[in-house]
Amino acid sequence: MKKRHLLAPGPTPVLPDALLAMARPILYHRGPEYEALLGRVRDGLKFLFQTKHEVLLFTSSGTGGMEGTVVNTLSPGDRALVIRSGKFGERWGEICEAYGLQPQYIDVEWGRAVDPDTVAAALAADPAIKVVFATHTESSTGVLHPIEAIARIVGKTPAILVVDAIMSLGVADLPMDAWGVDVVVGGSQKGLMIPPGLAFCAVSDKAWAMVQQSRLPKFYFNFLAERKSLEKNQNTFTPAVSLVMALHESLAAVRAEGLAALFARHDRLARATRAAVRALGLELFADPPTPALTAVAAPPGIEAGAIVKTMRTAHGITISGGQAQLKGKIFRLAHLGYADESDVVLCLAALERTLTDLGYPIKLGEGVRAVQEVLSQAG
Ligand SMILES: *Cc1c(COP(=O)(O)O)cnc(C)c1O
Repeated sequence: MKKRHLLAPGPTPVLPDALLAMARPILYHRGPEYEALLGRVRDGLKFLFQTKHEVLLFTSSGTGGMEGTVVNTLSPGDRALVIRSGKFGERWGEICEAYGLQPQYIDVEWGRAVDPDTVAAALAADPAIKVVFATHTESSTGVLHPIEAIARIVGKTPAILVVDAIMSLGVADLPMDAWGVDVVVGGSQKGLMIPPGLAFCAVSDKAWAMVQQSRLPKFYFNFLAERKSLEKNQNTFTPAVSLVMALHESLAAVRAEGLAALFARHDRLARATRAAVRALGLELFADPPTPALTAVAAPPGIEAGAIVKTMRTAHGITISGGQAQLKGKIFRLAHLGYADESDVVLCLAALERTLTDLGYPIKLGEGVRAVQEVLSQAG
């Protein structure tokens, strides 16, 4: 018998109360019970996104929220700026290009964060830029980008700032209104502790003004129609009712824990993981790192895929390897959502065994000891 543990950066383990909610009989989505539930979900989403603005909700994976944002803010021929530092930054560009736009790119070395000054320079050089597309946690590299500083720069221009926060929603602080971010895109299967299938788009007044003018083609992802429906506690099309029921539970858990405690928990788990990686003599890949996951460079002579495979087959733990140009070079340990101290201890213990299995010289217990040292500190 082998117990399985999911420690990959999405989907993440599901909150037990959310699993139970999905087992309940389905609700009619035009009936009073669902409308009351959606009303509470709307409030919970505003709390989570730290905004007074409406948070739109779509039945799709997170990428649907990204595509919806592109087609609802821009028009043919519009100028856009895409910060590209990994798979998900690239995705913003791919969506823009799919709709015939030719965005300008800021290319950042994978594993590093964008320098906000380069965003300021790009906006100064091309004042016609209408939208800046950024990523909070770049999941493919494990980097956390300086969104607050970028928001301060974009806020002084007519452009809006759109942030893919799919990996970091409910994990790393992103106070939308306080920082002045215009669109925040989220997804259900990362920090929110529920299965894949829901995307969220929170939209500021400055962004709504652009939505009113936008002329790119759209049908399913129509922000104006969706806002109108939500104001009546409805969705335009049949929503994934069971997922919304699960979301209701996860938002209640977020509120009960409180945002400050939620972010502090993730920060602790991330610090413990990084300390252990260093204690084992391995190299961290991302600078600065996100609290959602830890990207680790595979040690010399070992293919990252072998680590991922041995973790799964010999020790029952699912982690992720690298994507695209990082395939074989890094592996990624996730510690977000329904994750606590025991998960990090377990993960590092299995990593030590895996490295030993693969013949890499480490002292068993050194990573776990570093984890314990961080976790036993107050705060
Ligand atoms: C997971 C993720 C996405 C969206 O992926 P989907 O598979 O469409 O849900 C987008 N951006 C980031 C940063 C992610 O981590």
